[in-house]
Amino acid sequence: MKKRILPLLAVLTILALAAVLGLFVHQNIQLQEKQSQADADLDALRKSQEQELSEANAAAQEKLTEKDAYIAGQNEYITELSAQLQELMEADEADPKDTGGSPYDQDYPDLYAQAEYDRRNGDTSGFAKKIVHLTFDDGPSDLTPQVLDLLDSYNAKATFFVVYKEDKKYTDYLSEIVARGHTLALHSYSHNYKKIYASVDAFLDDYDKVNQWVYEATGQHPTLYRFPGGSNNGSKSVTREIKKEMARRGYLYYDWNVSSGDGSNLTTTENIIDNICLNVKHFEFPVVLMHDGPGKNATLKALPTVLENLKEQGYTFEALDETMEPVCF
Ligand SMILES: [Zn+2]
Repeated sequence: MKKRILPLLAVLTILALAAVLGLFVHQNIQLQEKQSQADADLDALRKSQEQELSEANAAAQEKLTEKDAYIAGQNEYITELSAQLQELMEADEADPKDTGGSPYDQDYPDLYAQAEYDRRNGDTSGFAKKIVHLTFDDGPSDLTPQVLDLLDSYNAKATFFVVYKEDKKYTDYLSEIVARGHTLALHSYSHNYKKIYASVDAFLDDYDKVNQWVYEATGQHPTLYRFPGGSNNGSKSVTREIKKEMARRGYLYYDWNVSSGDGSNLTTTENIIDNICLNVKHFEFPVVLMHDGPGKNATLKALPTVLENLKEQGYTFEALDETMEPVCF
């Protein structure tokens, strides 16, 4: 019996040892597995952190590049604006006749003047100076010699905005106007509103003709003009373009601030006297509209009283010239 137990015991011992060994090996394997899993997790974490960091770096770099590009773009824009400003300033300083921007630049080469005036810059001493500017539109006419004589007798200078007349007799009056020290200014060749206000070119064509007529008669190129019917006559857009083009050509236009009312032949001599003499005092530089033409006998009759009355009020009578600020509607 003892002999049979021993080998059994030995087998059992071996089995038990094997079981213990097996358990040990199994635990060791599990431990190794956990270790390697932990290593892998750590590695993955490190890699993901590295990835995040590199992405953040790339984004920051991109933003920096974008900012640089933006700054460069702004700098370019500023440089461009400065260049444009410089160009504008240079164009401003340059003679407007040299800019060549006008579509009428090549037309009517004789229709140019050099009118300039100094702005008074808020100086209101004109009221104290008591100067009145009498202006006569639509002449010369049969009345012109009498108007000139009356003006002479008061040592008065005036301005004549003339209209073309075919008759040589009237043409000679132009020289007389100049010789007596008055200002000769342009009004129109045809005085036909429909025609001259049809376009800028129609106006320039008309003015080129009246300018030529005046120049041939007197050797003078007038620098001042008055729109037939005033500067608010005609279509607004055409008149605006005419003003621009005439200014570019060096001309100044004058409207008026005191109307004698003699545009209508029904206005009486008394009305004309009152319209002028009662109203000049309201203006620093009164510019009085009168007419020198057929049917304007009431104006001629009113003129001595007007001159006398204004002289008594302390006024002197001066012609317009290009140094004066224009009176415009
Ligand atoms: Zn007129």
